[in-house]
Amino acid sequence: MNFSQVFDMVDIGLVILDRDLHVRHWNRWMHLHSGIDPGSITGSIVFDTFPNLKHPRFINKCKAVLTFGNFCFFSQKLHHYLFPFKPASFFYPDFDFMQQSCTMGPLRGENGSIEYIFIAVHDVTDTVTFEQKLMELNRKDALTGVQNRRSLEINLKEEIERTRRYRHPLSMIMLDIDHFKKVNDTYGHQCGDYILQQIALAIEKITRSQDILARYGGEEFCCLLPETSIEGAKLLAERFRKKISEKAYSYLDKSIAVTISLGVSTLKEETDTAETLLEKADSALYAAKNSGRNRVEVEI
Ligand code: GH3
Ligand code: MG
Ligand code: MG
Repeated sequence: MNFSQVFDMVDIGLVILDRDLHVRHWNRWMHLHSGIDPGSITGSIVFDTFPNLKHPRFINKCKAVLTFGNFCFFSQKLHHYLFPFKPASFFYPDFDFMQQSCTMGPLRGENGSIEYIFIAVHDVTDTVTFEQKLMELNRKDALTGVQNRRSLEINLKEEIERTRRYRHPLSMIMLDIDHFKKVNDTYGHQCGDYILQQIALAIEKITRSQDILARYGGEEFCCLLPETSIEGAKLLAERFRKKISEKAYSYLDKSIAVTISLGVSTLKEETDTAETLLEKADSALYAAKNSGRNRVEVEI
């Protein structure tokens, strides 16, 4: 009985290299995913076919296996893959290459000396795609599709760190729909939901790719503006205000016009924190509400 036939039945890649890193075994899984048959790769040095492996990270791990008999792990989180194969299915459009986690260890001869290295290749593209989708969903507001408040808070912390490092400005617009309760009371909650979606869409269209728009609360949105001065933020807020006030939304034969009030602020590098920046924008928004709505106010 030749037990090595099991090598060709398992759903993982198995490669065996000798001490000079020549390929000694290349299982069926490796053949299927690389298109390279065992006959043409066996006996050749692995770098001839996969020059990307000629890297200190891989070579040092091979040395550790051959010298000390260590087991090594190549995590997908750090390296993405060892063998550049196409993803096994077209369901993974986010990846150009199959995502792999690989294990490497020693194979010993009769007298216990290390003669070979084995590499086991696991395709983890499925898991990684699922993880990424979950993470994405976790940061989105379900109704409007913009970022949710938690995501904004994470982004805000990161942007503040970046701003301090590179000494770029960072501004913020807080906005709230005027008399939105009346819209719900008059036209129904479904119509209110539709208007919330349309406003998020209209504002997102005006923002630039680096701006981060989030739904901060019920009918309140926050837009984080990296590398934008207070003057730039004020101009942008005015564009938001104008755009919303000029448009009427059609819903079940009704035409509904709404306005928004906006508060603008900017980060004072030395003294402001995420909380104080949010408080200043919120206080400017409060001032806009108090001075008549459909307005932009600034608090520095
Ligand atoms: P103001 O101009 O002072 O902001 O008045 P307002 O009526 O907009 O403010 P208020 O805080 O009194 O009411 C907010 C309303 O927003 C009440 C609430 O039902 C509505 N709202 C919050 N979240 C949602 C939502 O997800 N969908 C809908 N349709 N309405 C929402
Ligand atoms: Mg409101
Ligand atoms: Mg509100």
